[in-house]
Amino acid sequence: MITVTKPYLPERAKLDKYIDRIYDTCRLTNDGPLVRELTRRLEEYLGVKHLLLVANGTLALQIAYRALGITGTALTTPFSFVATSSTLIWEGITPKYVDIDPETFNMDPGLVERSITDDTTAIIPVHVFGNPCEVERIDEIAKKNDLKVIYDAAHTFGVRYKGESILNHGDAATLSFHATKTYHTIEGGAIAFKEKEALDRARLLINFGITGPDKIEGLGINAKMNEFQAAMGLAVLDSIDHIVEKRSQVWRYYHERLKDSFQLQKWNPHATNNYGYFPVLFKDEEALLRCQKRLNERDIYPRRYFYPSLDSVEYIRGERMEVSRDIAGKVLCLPVYAEITKPTMNQVIRNI
Ligand SMILES: *Cc1c(COP(=O)(O)O)cnc(C)c1O
Repeated sequence: MITVTKPYLPERAKLDKYIDRIYDTCRLTNDGPLVRELTRRLEEYLGVKHLLLVANGTLALQIAYRALGITGTALTTPFSFVATSSTLIWEGITPKYVDIDPETFNMDPGLVERSITDDTTAIIPVHVFGNPCEVERIDEIAKKNDLKVIYDAAHTFGVRYKGESILNHGDAATLSFHATKTYHTIEGGAIAFKEKEALDRARLLINFGITGPDKIEGLGINAKMNEFQAAMGLAVLDSIDHIVEKRSQVWRYYHERLKDSFQLQKWNPHATNNYGYFPVLFKDEEALLRCQKRLNERDIYPRRYFYPSLDSVEYIRGERMEVSRDIAGKVLCLPVYAEITKPTMNQVIRNI
């Protein structure tokens, strides 16, 4: 069975080298040495200053909203994984949708300002499939209207924009290290904060608000990354350049053979790609469904990221977003992972 992605598993010997250290120290969690080492190495690899590792990418969003005091209404995109919106609702914040650009699939910055109301406190854009948003425009609108910006950067591990980390835009940017992402820690996530003060507040939030053996300073939750997650993260980080290189070969192979027959995502010209996804836009939903059926019959399972458009989800229900509905109906993400073979890619190409 060929699926849209396949988690990267490092060689056992490489992983064991880190796990041995857990057995030696018996430190399993609570800001242990491996989490500290991974934090330092990721700050260096990504080029960010104030990074906090957490248990998953969903908690990364929730903690970021809390640390930055987001309340009321937040403007976000309906074309994303459900967690972008569900985390807002979970935190008592109302998501209000801004429609997307039909070529980049990102929030359309030209539509943001008209959606701002008195109770809007934040903008939560998504760098969809790792493709950076128009960050200068969004950051400028936010500044002018006194709003916070938290980028759901779940797909942008290692992506650089104008020569520096894309994570350095916004008051915070969150990553997901879920097994299906380009870089993973089994489950895991991180928040890159602009200000150290926000990082310090978040550090309390992820550990019950506890500041000492006998001191509870405020409300918190458990959102800590554990040492086994960090061990996997260190081992995968050792191979990240290889992973991205392999994925780029797969991406280029598809791109070369499909670019003349399909509309593909328009990439930000100032940004690099980590080759996490290969979305293809069909002319209509029927064409997509026919293709999906053909591939499924051959035991190939691409995914409809992101479907359904979140404005149509019963419990969220926003104003109808026409562009997002249209794109969500027509986009299919093809299988991309480091060990995919040429015959498999050829089979995918023949059948789409
Ligand atoms: C994967 C993902 C998340 C959630 O991350 P988890 O680590 O699975 O909790 C949030 N937003 C987007 C856009 C994602 O793709």
